[in-house]
Amino acid sequence: MISPDLSPETLVVAAGRPEKAPDAPLNVPVVLSSTFHAGGPIAYGRSSNPSWEAFEEVVGALEGGRAISFASGMGAISAVLDLVPLGGAVVVPNHSYSGTAARLRDLEAAGRATTRLVPVDDAGAIAAALDGAALLWLESPTNPAMEVCDLPAAIAAARAAGVPTVCDNTFAGPLVQRPLQLGADLVLHSATKSLAGHSDVLMGVVVTTDDDWHARLLRVRTLVGAIPGPFEAWLALRGLRTLALRVRRSQATALELATRLQGHPAVRNVRYPGLPTDPGHAVAARQMDGFGAIVAFEIVGDVETAERFCDATRLIVHATSLGGVETLLERRRRWVEERPDIPETLIRLSVGIEDVDDLWADLEQALDSIR
Ligand SMILES: *Cc1c(COP(=O)(O)O)cnc(C)c1O
Repeated sequence: MISPDLSPETLVVAAGRPEKAPDAPLNVPVVLSSTFHAGGPIAYGRSSNPSWEAFEEVVGALEGGRAISFASGMGAISAVLDLVPLGGAVVVPNHSYSGTAARLRDLEAAGRATTRLVPVDDAGAIAAALDGAALLWLESPTNPAMEVCDLPAAIAAARAAGVPTVCDNTFAGPLVQRPLQLGADLVLHSATKSLAGHSDVLMGVVVTTDDDWHARLLRVRTLVGAIPGPFEAWLALRGLRTLALRVRRSQATALELATRLQGHPAVRNVRYPGLPTDPGHAVAARQMDGFGAIVAFEIVGDVETAERFCDATRLIVHATSLGGVETLLERRRRWVEERPDIPETLIRLSVGIEDVDDLWADLEQALDSIR
């Protein structure tokens, strides 16, 4: 086992390797087997797989806990929600990821759970909603509004109220923000995004330091069966190895693009926590190691203007998703599940690793073309 005292930028490269021995491979191979010789801890391919375990070891080392991987981010989210007791109240940001919100609406409609919506950037409102709740759901920064939650304050309030906390850490990633160290019980990721990082695989992961949560989540994964494929886990780990380089590059570019976007007349309300003028900047600077690679902004004009902008970029890809090496953008309200109070012209920009001036030239020509 690799020393957990190493820097996260080293752990992401050095953890999750096979035992050192002559001619042992450097990488855990793709283990394509549905069953295993009897007598070991794995036994069957729905309970574990060596290729998942290598990925889990690295994400666990980065977040500071034990990781369980899932078939997608929604698989991980659904496993956590499955553990909410019948009729339990989930305190959740009014702008959480649209899939999380949609799943909670369905659970509420079925009488399975209730939800209490809170503004995630108001720690007082979160604290006031916790009484008797079964779970506090946090996400920071939020997708796509880029609101920042004061994580230590919200988590401390939940602890005082005896409410467990889960944090969707997809937007920041484990090199930038580590919610378990801030006291959260669970942290989860859509590994589809920056962890895997190359827009070629869907996966999810939950991490916890608590043995009881770990055992319960493992049981849900095994019995519900939302397991990743061995090849997906291998691809995700291969992508994860370069996370430190990708994050450094893309967040530096994101700050530069956000700054330039602020000065363009076709743009308003740029949200990026790295901007000194952003409402979330002070809180983000306290709890994050950098500010991530996602920028949100509104196009001046109507839906049709915003759609024309999305179709006018040449290098930047008009597509959903985020966290890949290639820069993507989309108008979030094109999704019916997106919240009605997200502005119709809000654009979510996921900054990749291309040259900053090439990206700016493309944004500028697209913005100039719609004026
Ligand atoms: C994409 C995303 C998810 C869902 O993950 P999938 O891998 O697409 O299932 C969850 N949370 C956030 C913040 C996301 O951006």
